[in-house]
Amino acid sequence: MVETATFGAGDRSHHDAAHWTCPHGRHVGQGCVACYDAAVEPDPALPLWAAVVWFTSPRPIPIKVLHDVHRHDRHFAIDQPSTPLVFLLTGQARAAQGVEAVACLVGFLLQSRGTIDDFTVFEVRATRF
Ligand SMILES: [Zn+2]
Repeated sequence: MVETATFGAGDRSHHDAAHWTCPHGRHVGQGCVACYDAAVEPDPALPLWAAVVWFTSPRPIPIKVLHDVHRHDRHFAIDQPSTPLVFLLTGQARAAQGVEAVACLVGFLLQSRGTIDDFTVFEVRATRF
């Protein structure tokens, strides 16, 4: 099962707004620290998701920070595919729904404030294993 969404592009983003709101009432594009915390020690019975978040940053993210992400969180990684200031954050999380896995991943960006000051999420994907 794959769930995808693109934000800020046409009517579809309105339709998706409710679907892409986590149980804490946060839109996934904003991220959710509660979802992030919940995924740190998840119920092993919950399904495992591969979540992908594309985001832009107003400033380049230092290579050192990108490498540090790998150390901090077991399956989390930030890559810079090709376009300047466009980044790809990938990670695995256990959650009841895909929206929570994505909110968790963006929550990681919130936790990284200081190294990643600002970001704008424009596309997400959650794939259930
Ligand atoms: Zn949440």
